[in-house]
Amino acid sequence: MKTERRNGGKAERGEGLATGKQLAEYRRKRDFGRTAEPRGGRRRAARKLQYVIQKHAASHLHYDLRLELDGVMKSWAVPKGPSLDPSVKRLAMEVEDHPIEYNQFEGTIPKGEYGGGTVMVWDRGTYTYGGEDDAEPVEALRRGYQKGDFKFRLDGDRLKGSWVLVRTRRGDPRRPQWLLIKHRDDSAEPGSEVVEEYQTSAATGRTMDEIAAGRKPRRRRGART
Ligand code: MN
Repeated sequence: MKTERRNGGKAERGEGLATGKQLAEYRRKRDFGRTAEPRGGRRRAARKLQYVIQKHAASHLHYDLRLELDGVMKSWAVPKGPSLDPSVKRLAMEVEDHPIEYNQFEGTIPKGEYGGGTVMVWDRGTYTYGGEDDAEPVEALRRGYQKGDFKFRLDGDRLKGSWVLVRTRRGDPRRPQWLLIKHRDDSAEPGSEVVEEYQTSAATGRTMDEIAAGRKPRRRRGART
């Protein structure tokens, strides 16, 4: 067995390299000759941990929540999307790790391919550990993920504040079901429906129909609102 390149001293800054093994399932499911989704390389992660939510009109509309950890995007499919109401628990089905470059992906996956349908960058930004143990934030994130009590704080274009993903005992053990819950803080909004509020891309300003039609971005990619 080859020695895996672990994160060494850079782990505290959240840097890491995705190994081929981590992305094996992601790659196995896709034909990169047919889909424009990234294959994922040994790209060095950004200094701050990245966060993205992609709205995905596949066979069923859902929102893909992705949080960077150890060089990959940990990923959950959230059928109803996030809620800012702390009394609402949203089902979040864990799916395979995605490459960090996937955060830039907006477009249409061809029909018949895995996940075929239109993908919008619905929100994006960075995130940090959201719990009490601030001494080793990346280590605390790893532990939280492993324990199934993953607390994080978002600094996205649209979503802010602290959240938790709680793992349940339901579902395939390899693909567990979690619940996504907003914590009570300044960014909580009881009774709101944030996924209805924002119908355009955080990256390009386009609607799902405009992305599907291949319309040009409304503003420069990377511009913040
Ligand atoms: Mn998806």
